[in-house]
Amino acid sequence: MSLLSSRIDPLAFLTDELNALRAKGTYFKLRVLEDEQAAVCTFDGRKVINLASNNYLGLTTHPKLREAALAATRDYGVGSGAVRTIAGTMKLHMELEEKIARFKNVEACVVFQSGFTANAGTVSALLGKEDFIISDELNHASIIDGCRLSRAKILVFRHKDVAHAEEQLASVKDLPGKKLLISDGVFSMDGDIGPLPGLCAAAEKYGAIMMVDDAHSSGVLGHQGRGTIDHCGMHGRVDIQVGTLSKAIGALGGYVCGTRDFIEFLYHRARPFLFSTSHPPSVAASCIAAFDVLESEPQWMEQLWANTHFFKKELGLLGFDIGGKNTPASETPITPIIIGDGKLTMEFSRELFKEGVLGTGIAFPTVPEGKARIRTIVTATHTQSELQQALETLSRVGKKMGIV
Ligand SMILES: *Cc1c(COP(=O)(O)O)cnc(C)c1O
Repeated sequence: MSLLSSRIDPLAFLTDELNALRAKGTYFKLRVLEDEQAAVCTFDGRKVINLASNNYLGLTTHPKLREAALAATRDYGVGSGAVRTIAGTMKLHMELEEKIARFKNVEACVVFQSGFTANAGTVSALLGKEDFIISDELNHASIIDGCRLSRAKILVFRHKDVAHAEEQLASVKDLPGKKLLISDGVFSMDGDIGPLPGLCAAAEKYGAIMMVDDAHSSGVLGHQGRGTIDHCGMHGRVDIQVGTLSKAIGALGGYVCGTRDFIEFLYHRARPFLFSTSHPPSVAASCIAAFDVLESEPQWMEQLWANTHFFKKELGLLGFDIGGKNTPASETPITPIIIGDGKLTMEFSRELFKEGVLGTGIAFPTVPEGKARIRTIVTATHTQSELQQALETLSRVGKKMGIV
C-alpha cells in the first residue's frame, strides 16, 4: 500500500458538511453560462430568460466597451505585470480613476480589483483596535469582513434604523478612537435604499466618518447613474463612497472615492492595493468606456427603470411576496420573491429553470434563516415580451408548487 492511499484524509469532514447541505436541500451546482451574459442566454445547454445577473444596463456586451477592451489589449497587452505600488500602475488606471472622481464629483478615486477588496481593504486600513464601527445589520459581507480585519469594535444597528444608529454612536461618544458609520446605498438582497439623510446627520452630530457602499446603485440611481449620494442629495456629506465596476459598469473592479489625502493614504495602507496585482489594461479601458456610455447614452437607464416599474407591478399583481411585509420593500431593479423555506426556494428555482427562466435561489447564510428567496433583477436589455414570458412562467410554476 502506498503512503498516499493509507493516509487519512484530513478533509474528510467536508463530505459530512456537504451531505448536511444536501439533506437541507440547499446544496447547489454551479450553473455554467455558454454564451454572453445577456437578457436571454444559455446556461447548462438551456436557453433561459436571465433574471439573475447584475448586468443592469447591458454593458457586459456593449460594442463600445468591447472595442475599448480589444484596442487596449492590442496596444498594451493582457496584464499589468505587478501590483500598483511596484510597477503595475498604467496610464489607463490613472485615467479611469480621474474619470470616476469627476463623475462622482469628488477630489480623488482609487480603483481596486473588486468591490469586495475595495470595502475590505478600505475599512481595515482606516481603523484599528481602538476604533468603533457602527454598521447596518444587512451590510454586505465585504464590509463585515473589512470590519473584522480592522479589529475595531463593531456596533450593529437594526436595518435602516437611524435612531438605533444614533444610540450606538451616543454609547461610544466619550470614548477615544475613531468612529465610522457605514451603510449600503442599496441593499443587495432586498433592493431597498439606505436612509442616507438621517445617517449623514447622525454622523455629523457625533463627528463620525460617513461611508456608503454604492455597489448596486452606481449606474442605476441618481443623475446619469451617480448613485444614492446623488439620488438623496448628499453630495459633500459622505466622506467615503465605494462602488463596483462589476455590476452596472459591466466589467470588473471596485473603487473608493474621497479626499486626495484619503486616497493617498489608501495607496500606502490598503492591503489589496499593495499586495494584489492591478487590472489588465482591457478592464480599465472597458470601464472608461462604460462611464462615457453612462453620460452619452441615457436610454439604458431609462429603459432599466421602465422595465423595473413594469416587472415589479406585475409580479405584485400575481400575488408573490415581493417584500414590504416582514422584509423591506424594494425601491430598485432588485425584486426579491420571498419564499421563506430554503428547500422550497431551491426547488422553485430548479423548476423555473426547466421552464426557461433563470432566477437564482438565495438561502442562508446569504440571507437570514427563514427569508430564502428568488432574487430577480431586470436589466435595460430585457424586451417587454421577455418580461411578460418570465412573469407567465413564474405564475404557472408558482401555482403548481403552491407558492401563490
Ligand atoms: C456586489 C457587491 C459588492 C462586491 O462587488 P464586486 O465588485 O462584485 O466584488 C460590494 N458591496 C455590495 C453592496 C455589493 O452588492
